[in-house]
Amino acid sequence: MFRARQVNIKTPAEIKIMREAGRINASVHARLKELLQPGATTADLNAAAEETLKSHGCVSPFKGYGRPPFPASITVSINDEMVHGIPNPKRKLKEGDIVSVDCGTIYQGYVADSAFTAGVGRISDEAQTLLQVTEAALYAGIAKMRKGNRIGDVSAAIQNYVESHGFHVAREYTGHGVGKTMHEAPQAPNFGAAGSGLPLKAGMTIAIEPMTIIGTHETRVLPDKWTVVSADGSLTAHFEHTVAVTEGEPQILTVL
Ligand code: MG
Ligand code: MG
Repeated sequence: MFRARQVNIKTPAEIKIMREAGRINASVHARLKELLQPGATTADLNAAAEETLKSHGCVSPFKGYGRPPFPASITVSINDEMVHGIPNPKRKLKEGDIVSVDCGTIYQGYVADSAFTAGVGRISDEAQTLLQVTEAALYAGIAKMRKGNRIGDVSAAIQNYVESHGFHVAREYTGHGVGKTMHEAPQAPNFGAAGSGLPLKAGMTIAIEPMTIIGTHETRVLPDKWTVVSADGSLTAHFEHTVAVTEGEPQILTVL
């Protein structure tokens, strides 16, 4: 018989720990945003992330994750690369690139997970619009993270926002519950019907993460078995926060 994977409801004390994990993760983001300069390598970004995590006594859940084991503490994905790019000492950032950085923090046994996309120097108007739309779609989704709503309400808000601006949401990669491990139930897709799916309850902690593409919803994986690119080579973006459902307003955990 099919049984849905259990969704772990966190206590206020657990959410407090995740909030601290989220604050540390946000401090890594702040550091990395300063380093998005022409000439910096994606390995430089990873080294800075590891240094910042270490200064807080933390590590990333990304390192060693999956098969083949992911070799770094952050993922760095440039332009048509959407997610899971592997940091590389030979890969230099250039003026006009858009760079998606995904980072996780394990603090006192709990995980925070968040991502952003930002430009290197001056970027095209189209790239700027993609970034703005994707970030706004994240907040449109988060606004639906309320007790009594359903996961589909979050999914639909993200999809409708992105598609109303003429862009696409990736289908094969989704948001997810997060807690003692990086990926828990439930899945939180970036497309779907309002009113469908799991009802949201106070104490659920979910990483909401729109992944968008200018020209298609289709993606493919590069031979390195990790890097996910848009199928048509068009630009992509990714914004993510770990969010707690509460008795009232949604609480974003991955902010300073
Ligand atoms: Mg992430
Ligand atoms: Mg995630």
